[in-house]
Amino acid sequence: MKILVIGGAGYVGSHMLKRFQDTNHEVEVLDNLSTGFETNCLDFPLHKCDLSNREQVYSILKNKFDLVMHFASFINVGESYINPQKYYENNVINTLNLLNCMVDLKILNFVFSSTAAVYGEPKSNLVSEIHPMTPVNPYGHTKAIVENILKNYDNAYGLKSISLRYFNACGAHSDGTIGERHDPETHLIPLILQAASGRKNKITIYGDDYPTKDGTCVRDYIHVMDLAEAHLLALDRLFQLQLSDVYNIGNNEGFSVKEIIGVAKKITNKKIDIEIQSRRKGDPAELIADNQKIKLELNWTAKHSDLDKIISSAWQWEQKLLTFNQ
Ligand code: UDP
Repeated sequence: MKILVIGGAGYVGSHMLKRFQDTNHEVEVLDNLSTGFETNCLDFPLHKCDLSNREQVYSILKNKFDLVMHFASFINVGESYINPQKYYENNVINTLNLLNCMVDLKILNFVFSSTAAVYGEPKSNLVSEIHPMTPVNPYGHTKAIVENILKNYDNAYGLKSISLRYFNACGAHSDGTIGERHDPETHLIPLILQAASGRKNKITIYGDDYPTKDGTCVRDYIHVMDLAEAHLLALDRLFQLQLSDVYNIGNNEGFSVKEIIGVAKKITNKKIDIEIQSRRKGDPAELIADNQKIKLELNWTAKHSDLDKIISSAWQWEQKLLTFNQ
């Protein structure tokens, strides 16, 4: 199959490209390289293009793709409050541009990177796909809007899609060549490891007064290689069954911020200073995936998401980033 990977130069997209190297799919990449890295695209053909440029997107898509995977979005919850325009323009309008080009060209298979943030404040301990979409921050809203558009576009135009709702993507590739590299970094695990390596002087904990086991937020951490595997299974499912669907990708297990710091101390054997601050806006207390559906229907299992493994791989990557920054 011929597949266009949008956002392949970024964190999750680059792990997907690595996974595609072991398949027979013909893959090309579309990325504006605003936050990603050209080297992450390996030897796959790269179209440097912004999704807002509808004409260019259209002419790239004309090269007869069977399926599009869309990883290119802004993902920072805090920034989505300060600059919602940036989030709605890219995550919604640019995605709509893309979908309209696909429908015009009869490219009717789509794998979409969605998020657990579509659920908002969960009404149960484990969140399954039937939980209502009630996002509590602009970022989550942008993804929920696209999921709704996808339902409408299937009904009206036969566009078949699988939306994958990521819980907390983390870790780095086992071969040590790629990992998480955001600028500025806002995610918990890389920030803890920056505090361990000395790139930062401490880790700030946003709130220790949540109704959780130790007062800090609980999240479901899923290794990025397990995420990439889920995408591959999703595209097989889409080609075989031609049915639109939605799946959680999570580990069915939650860890608090303090627990993550504890494991990071053990793995790195470094001192990690902490500072407690007030809660961050838009953070639910607890978000843990019910992952039964993806296990049963896609035959997916998490193979790399043991917390020690996640943090060891991210720590190996942090050592590498240190050498880039020297
Ligand atoms: N967090 C924190 N300090 C940080 C960054 C994150 O305490 O410097 C907390 C945050 O409040 C959340 C969890 O760590 O409960 C995971 O946050 P992250 O930004 O990594 O992912 P999100 O859950 O927002 O997708």
